[in-house]
Amino acid sequence: PALTSCLLPTLKSRLAQPIWQLLSCIANEAQDRGWNLYIVGGGVRDLLLTEDDKPLLLQDIDLVVDGFHRAADDRSGVTLANTIREKYPQSRLSIHGEFQTAALLWHKDPILDNLWLDIATARTEFYPYPAANPEVEASSIRQDLYRRDFTINALAVRLTPPRKQEFSRKGDLLDFFGGLIDLKARKIRVLHANSFIEDPTRIYRAVRFAVRLHFTIEPQTEEYIKYAIDSGVYERLRLSDRQAPALTTRLRAELKYILQAEYWKPALKLLADLGALRCLHQDLQLTPQLWWEIRCISRWLYYLDPENQLQHWLIRLEILICSLPTSEREIVAVNLQLPKDSIQRVRQLDQIATEIIPQLPKKQLPSEIYQLLNSYKYVGLILLGVRSSPEIRKILWQYLTKLSQVKPILNGNDLKELGYKPSPLYKQMLNDLLAATLDSKITNQQEAEAFIKDKY
Ligand code: ATP
Repeated sequence: PALTSCLLPTLKSRLAQPIWQLLSCIANEAQDRGWNLYIVGGGVRDLLLTEDDKPLLLQDIDLVVDGFHRAADDRSGVTLANTIREKYPQSRLSIHGEFQTAALLWHKDPILDNLWLDIATARTEFYPYPAANPEVEASSIRQDLYRRDFTINALAVRLTPPRKQEFSRKGDLLDFFGGLIDLKARKIRVLHANSFIEDPTRIYRAVRFAVRLHFTIEPQTEEYIKYAIDSGVYERLRLSDRQAPALTTRLRAELKYILQAEYWKPALKLLADLGALRCLHQDLQLTPQLWWEIRCISRWLYYLDPENQLQHWLIRLEILICSLPTSEREIVAVNLQLPKDSIQRVRQLDQIATEIIPQLPKKQLPSEIYQLLNSYKYVGLILLGVRSSPEIRKILWQYLTKLSQVKPILNGNDLKELGYKPSPLYKQMLNDLLAATLDSKITNQQEAEAFIKDKY
C-alpha cells in the first residue's frame, strides 16, 4: 500500500468506527497527561499488509504508552487503562503488575465484540542470562520495539502529537529496524543475532508468521535459528530450568496456535526442516512414518469429531510425543504442562496396546470386540488405531465409527413395561440386549422383546 506520511486517515477509515473512537479517547487521555501513545505490533503490520480499501479487522490491539522515563510514570499503561475502564464500564480490566501491562477486554460486546486491548508501558528488557524471562523497566518506545520478535512486528504508529523536540509527528510510522522493507519483501527477520537464544519460542513464532502470511524466513534469521538449536537453547525449555515454566507455557501456546491452524501441515514441516522439533525433545523427528500418522489422525478426527468437541491440536501433539520412546513421553508432556488426561494418554498408550493388540484378532463377534474395547477411553483408542498395523487399525476404526455408538434397543422403562421388576438383573439384561444388537441377532423392538422374554 502507498505509505502516506500520516497514517491516521488510513487507520481511521479502515478501523471500525467504535474502535477508532476508543483509540482516539485513549490518545486524548495520554496527551492530557503529557504521555505518548502508539499502536504497535500486529495491528500496524496488518494495516500495512492488507489492501488499502479493505476494513482492518482487529481483535487484539497492542498499545504502548511512553511515560518519559519518570519513575512515577512506570505504571502509566495501568493508569490509562483504569481511566478508560471508567469510560467503558462494559469492559473488564486485568493488570499484569510485574510487566506494567494492563489489558481491557470486551466480551461479546454489541459494539466492540470480543476486543482485547493491551496497554503496555514502554519498556526495555534485560536478559540476565539467555532464555530467561524478561525483566522489565520503563523506557522509551524505541527500546520497547527493540525487544520485539521480528522487524514486521516492531512497527508503531504514533497516536498522540509530539512534545517539543521529538522527531516524530502524530500519525507517523515509527520504523527503526527496516520493518516496512521486510513487509514489502515478505521476510521474517529478527532484530538481532541473539533473539532466539533469548527466547526460543520465537522460533515457533517465526514459523507461524512465515506460513500464515506466506512470508519467507530471511536467510540470516534462519541461520540464527539453526545456531540457537545447535547450541542447545532448548535445554532452557526443560522444567528443571528456573525460568522454564513461563517459557514452556509460551511454547505450548505457540504449538497450539500452529497445530490448530488450517496451515498446520506446512508449519509442522517447516519446524521439522529447521530442526525446531528438538525444542520438544532432542530426538523428536518428523519421520515419514510420523508424518503419515499425524495426517492419518487428523483425518480420523475430522471424521469422528466433526463438531470439534475434542481438542484436535492436542491430539496431534500427542501423536508427535508418542513417537518418542515410552520412557520419554510423559516427561515431554509434563514439561509442556499438558492437561492431565493428555499426560495420562501418552503414558498409558503402550500399556493399552499390550492389553488390546494380542487379544483383538482373536475376537470374532462385534460384541466381543465391544467387550474388549468398551472400558478404554475413546481418544486413547484413536491414538492406538493410528499407530497400529492395518489389521488392528481396521478393527479399531470399526469400533470407533460403529460399534461404540450402538445402544441397546430397549431401556429400563421398556423392561418395566414388559413386567420385569427393577433389579440388578436389569444390567445383565441390557448387556445381553446390546450384545445381541451388536451381533445383529436383533434389529428391532419386537425382536428385542422376544429375545428378552425367551431368555429371562
Ligand atoms: P497475531 O495476528 O497472531 O495476533 P500479533 O503480532 O498480534 O499477531 P501476538 O502474539 O499477539 O502477535 O503478539 C503481539 C506483539 O507482541 C507482537 O507483534 C510482537 O511485537 C510482540 N511479541 C509477542 N511475543 C513475542 C516474543 N516471544 N518475543 C518478542 N516479541 C513478542
